[in-house]
Formats: sequence, C-alpha cells, structure tokens
Amino acid sequence: MPELPEVEVTRRGLVPLLNQTVKNIVIRNAGMRWPIPAHLPQTLHNQKLLGLRRRAKYILADFENGTLLLHLGMSGRLCLLDRNYPPEKHDHFDIQFHDGQVLRLRDPRRFGAVLWAGGKPDEHPLLRVLGPEPLEDGFNAKYLHGELRTRSAAIKVAIMDSHLVVGVGNIYASESLFRARIHPEIPAKQLTLKQCEKLVAEIKATLNDALNAGGSSLRDFFGADGNPGYFQQEYFVYGRTGEPCKVCSKPIQCIRLGQRSTFFCRHCQKR
Ligand SMILES: [Zn+2]
Repeated sequence: MPELPEVEVTRRGLVPLLNQTVKNIVIRNAGMRWPIPAHLPQTLHNQKLLGLRRRAKYILADFENGTLLLHLGMSGRLCLLDRNYPPEKHDHFDIQFHDGQVLRLRDPRRFGAVLWAGGKPDEHPLLRVLGPEPLEDGFNAKYLHGELRTRSAAIKVAIMDSHLVVGVGNIYASESLFRARIHPEIPAKQLTLKQCEKLVAEIKATLNDALNAGGSSLRDFFGADGNPGYFQQEYFVYGRTGEPCKVCSKPIQCIRLGQRSTFFCRHCQKR
C-alpha cells in the first residue's frame, strides 16, 4: 500500500502538469472505492490545473473551478504519460491535457478513489476529520501529549489513528517507536511529555528518511516491473522477526496489535 512518502513523491512527479489545460477526461471503469463522478468530463473540460497539494494520502489537484481528490488505495498508481498510449486492463481513468500529456490512474484492486471536492476541498467529509500533517509544526510534543491523555489504546495503535496524526502507517509506527525506545504496547496515556518529544522527532525523522530514500521522481517510486513498491530502506525492526536487533543483537519480536503486525525489540523498548 502506498504510504505518505510514496504519495508525496507521486505528487512531486506530477508537477509537469501544472498550468496545463484539460482536453478530455476518460472514465473507463467508474467502479472504484466510490464511483468516479460521471460529471467530471463536463466539469473539468478546458479547466487549467493550478495546484497540486497533498493532504494525508490524498493528492489534491486544484483546477480553476474546484479540486479533484485522488487516492491510490491499496494498489493504485498515477502514471504521467507524454502521449496517449493505448490503455491496459487496469487503466480506469485518464486526464488528457491539451499539450499531449496524460495523467492515468492504474489500479488493479480498485480501492483507489477519484472524487470531486468542488471549491472547498478542506471541508470535504474525508479531509475534514483528519489530524495534523506529521511533518508540519502543528504536530509537536505538546499537541501529542495533550491528545494522548485520554487514550488508553496501545501507543502503536494511537499513532496510526488518522484523527490524531495522518500518515503514520504500519512501517513508520514500528520504526519510530523503536527509534524512540518506546514499547508499542504501552497505553498511550502513560507517555510522558519527554517521551512524546522523542516520538514526534522520530516520526518526523523516519518519514523524512523515507522521502529522501525515495528521491523526488515518479520513476524512483516504481520497480523495474512497473509496480509501485516501498522505497528501498534499511529498517531497524520492520519485517525483521527473529533477526538480531541492530542496537543490542537480541532477536526482533513480532506481535499482533490492532490487527497489524508490530515489530519491536523487547530489550531496547522496555515497558
Ligand atoms: Zn535491541
């Protein structure tokens, strides 16, 4: 599943489309997570793309008359083509521009989304409920500590809740807790301000490492097989069950927490 860093790199890769004008919208299969609105070909015809933003894992394409929300779901990929190549089986949606470029959504599992948010995208029901961006100043130790005070869930579960902070997926939750030396099962409300400081810093560092590993082009996002993958990174704990901890050499543990695999070192992350 594309995580926040992959989505951010995708957004950067689409920048060549800025200030281009829509010639045509093609909906080949509207049956995504939610139906692709049938009015889009009419709504976006001859509209100029003025901005490309990211909020959580949504890409917001700001046109003159409103904003289109794009989400990659589990297996989605946005391809930027220099001309209108013949579509393949899972190419469900195109935005064709007057200069010849085509933005194409390919999504075998169809959990992705293309939604029209009109003129007030931040008030869209899917965006309105989101917590702060992890890399922005609003996500800080004081905020986190305040929010955790009433939460008895395990800290790993809490930081993956998009109402609290967006974009901390399973990999980044395990990795940042290890780096902050916090046991993933500790009830969230027991974290001290000091621990929150450490955790916030490590969440930001872990995400920035992934962004740096991913480079800044769409090409970097895809393997030689053309499928989206995670950026190649060295993990401390993620996916390393039984392998020696890089700090203390004891074996990495894996437990299920909130239905997700959770990796940690029992020695480095004491309860
Ligand atoms: Zn260790």
